[in-house]
Amino acid sequence: MGKIETTRFAVIEQEHTVKVHERKLPELRPDEVLIKNGACNICTTDYGQWSGARKNLKFPMAFGHEFSGTIVDMGSKVSGFEIGEPVGIGYDNCGQCEFCKKGLTSECVTLGEGRNKLSPDGYHGGFGCSEYVIKPYRSLFKMDASINPSEAAFVEPVGTVCQGLRKLRVSSGEKIVVIGAGTMGVLNALACKAEGCDVLITEMMEKKINVAQNLGLHVVDVSKEDPVKAVEEWTGGRGADAVILAVGATAANDQALEMVKQLHGRILLFAAGYPAPELHVDSNLIHYRKMELIGTFSADVCDFEKAARLISEKKIDLSKLVEAKYPLDSVQEAFEAAVVPGAYRVSVVFDEI
Ligand SMILES: [Zn+2]
Ligand SMILES: [Zn+2]
Repeated sequence: MGKIETTRFAVIEQEHTVKVHERKLPELRPDEVLIKNGACNICTTDYGQWSGARKNLKFPMAFGHEFSGTIVDMGSKVSGFEIGEPVGIGYDNCGQCEFCKKGLTSECVTLGEGRNKLSPDGYHGGFGCSEYVIKPYRSLFKMDASINPSEAAFVEPVGTVCQGLRKLRVSSGEKIVVIGAGTMGVLNALACKAEGCDVLITEMMEKKINVAQNLGLHVVDVSKEDPVKAVEEWTGGRGADAVILAVGATAANDQALEMVKQLHGRILLFAAGYPAPELHVDSNLIHYRKMELIGTFSADVCDFEKAARLISEKKIDLSKLVEAKYPLDSVQEAFEAAVVPGAYRVSVVFDEI
């Protein structure tokens, strides 16, 4: 194979318009790796910008952060990886600042500009939806070669779930409720099951109920049943050990407070909501019930390592969470499919489907 100098990549040019552009690849730095992309999944943030729901993100956006591929070239200071290895992707981190040294790599001081970071050739974003992508080796996590690229691309979202469950301190045998069976709700539920927890998930959309049931999850259809009562029955009146909020909505927050057990209950605020949801709780209740309200967002290196292991060892079944696959040249259609309510992850793939 000759030296790869250019790459084609997808760009959100403006609302409702995503196109394929071409660019010259920058020179590989000593700590960087060139990856031949296998698949890039379209995240809620990506299609939120495309549809106009996320006004804080800038155009043109070379989006894409949920992807996976194979190493084809690397700089002189890369260690622990080999050419030909399949990898999933986490977040960039310098490995040297005070946060990275404590393992809090998601708070790395070099991440300041986030997705709005501007490249010298005038694009925002990280170019994750490119045929070839350059990444520092510290952002990469080894994947088993048997995992298909669209599923290996779940290292980032599963990593965020691993951080949440680490903060929530779930343990085997606990009864956990997950509110919402979208992609992140289902991933939370499957990861809890992998930890040996007993899980109940609540949802109102028929399609999501079916997917969750097909994955072997215990689902409560909230259009037919009162979820608070259902949890009461399921726990023999005790209440759940913990509740994970995988939707950002005031009504869901209210339910969580009623579902969690009387003493030592924990609630994980996993999802954001726009407009911002409210939480109606008086502080005496937290005090007397010794309740914990736990926030989580993003993922650290240890979480990505765990996610890569869970996926590689097939401890969580991602097969039903890939809604559809499109080639790069059909990326506009891919976004149209991704915004359909109830859609799971739509995947842009770089080899034949
Ligand atoms: Zn994402
Ligand atoms: Zn750092």
